[in-house]
Amino acid sequence: MERLTIQVGGYAVNCTILSQGSKAWIVDPGSEGERIIALLAKNSLEPQGILLTHAHFDHITGTAALQKRFPSIPVYVGMPDTVMFGHPFNQMPGEYPSIGTPANIHDASELTICEVIKTPGHTPGGVCYYFPGDNLLLSGDTLFAGSVGRTDFPGGSMAELVDSLRRLMELPDDTLVIPGHGGFTSIGAERRTNPYIA
Ligand SMILES: [Zn+2]
Repeated sequence: MERLTIQVGGYAVNCTILSQGSKAWIVDPGSEGERIIALLAKNSLEPQGILLTHAHFDHITGTAALQKRFPSIPVYVGMPDTVMFGHPFNQMPGEYPSIGTPANIHDASELTICEVIKTPGHTPGGVCYYFPGDNLLLSGDTLFAGSVGRTDFPGGSMAELVDSLRRLMELPDDTLVIPGHGGFTSIGAERRTNPYIA
């Protein structure tokens, strides 16, 4: 897999475009859909799917523009998070476009290009995308460099987050972790230094 990560929107979400040949998958297109579309065109990539780590507004709002440009593109998400689409608690002002329910929603666990690890806690339907052949984990807002996701939003649970982190710590130390926000890290570094995991 080739990989390109950009920061999008006021909350600086890490949006990652993964590609193999001309096929691409977009993880967390939070805001700036047009910029993501331009990047796909520049790299001659045809999107095969949108992978959401969870359905918080800052991670999903580029979805509408992508589906307008590529109407058949499926959206993969943990099903318990689908209640958040269009929910008033999940609606923010400013530069974020309004959040409707995307078309063509699929359960993330249908994906065959990666392993989907269910990681509830930050949200009920949160998932992490693990690419064993690439030693790569897209951890959304479950695991950050030196920190973990908040559990005080609706549907959050610290007990579930702790269980989820335990599952992530079963991955190899040299797994590169791209969180939903902030710098990249590795499973080994978090195992050694993350105060929420020690
Ligand atoms: Zn979030």
